Amino acid sequence: MTEPRYKRILLKLSGEVLMGQGGLAIDTAVTARVAEEIADVRAQGYELCVVVGGGNIFRGISGAANGMERATADYMGMLATVMNALAVQNALETIGVDTRVQSAIPMHSVCEPFIRRRAERHLEKGRVVIFAAGVGSPFFTTDSGAALRAAEMNCDALFKGTSVDGVYDADPKKVADAKRYETVSYDMVLAKNLKVMDASAVALCRDSDIPIVVFNIREHGNFAAVLDGKGVSTVVQ
Ligand code: UDP
Repeated sequence: MTEPRYKRILLKLSGEVLMGQGGLAIDTAVTARVAEEIADVRAQGYELCVVVGGGNIFRGISGAANGMERATADYMGMLATVMNALAVQNALETIGVDTRVQSAIPMHSVCEPFIRRRAERHLEKGRVVIFAAGVGSPFFTTDSGAALRAAEMNCDALFKGTSVDGVYDADPKKVADAKRYETVSYDMVLAKNLKVMDASAVALCRDSDIPIVVFNIREHGNFAAVLDGKGVSTVVQ
């Protein structure tokens, strides 16, 4: 058997992947399906970190557009990511996956604070560690949080689970013959402003030499398949 390409990975989930058809911010059935994908991969022996976004509940930039102070709105966005992290934790523990949530904003009654060495121990014990509250500062996004945690936790790759199956040269919803890249360079993503993650997150992954694998997490079995080198994805490297 060939050695797996990656041992420790970070999964970035946008808040929107927890939403259902009915417009609920957190659809428990949808969240349960995402948890199953994570559990499958964990069961294969991968060490798994998860970073959850908050865009399904609140984005700082929208609050600011409606007249709020940007920093305050961003703190609200970070609190939204903690809610999502608890929802993912609950869904994982329901199916027997041991987890810990660590927040960049300390909230002792709710979850652990982010402590890198403690997160390391959790991973060694086979727990899935869910990182909440991004980097803990306003004017950032959870994409940057994901890139930062992937770098400091020495992850071999950052998997970005979305509702599209990779990175295209044009918006596939608008351009009929848009082409999906199999692989694309970090610099090309930045130069062409391709919609992968925000620029600071891409630059951090480039500087830390962490490939970004963009794939559709809503498709059953795709996360495990992509890890196995069989599913559909785009690798930014
Ligand atoms: N946010 C922040 N700092 C961070 C991470 C997140 O201020 O380090 C805020 C920001 O307002 C953002 C919101 O939290 O809009 C939700 O995160 P994000 O938009 O990244 O979620 P996603 O798009 O992945 O669902």
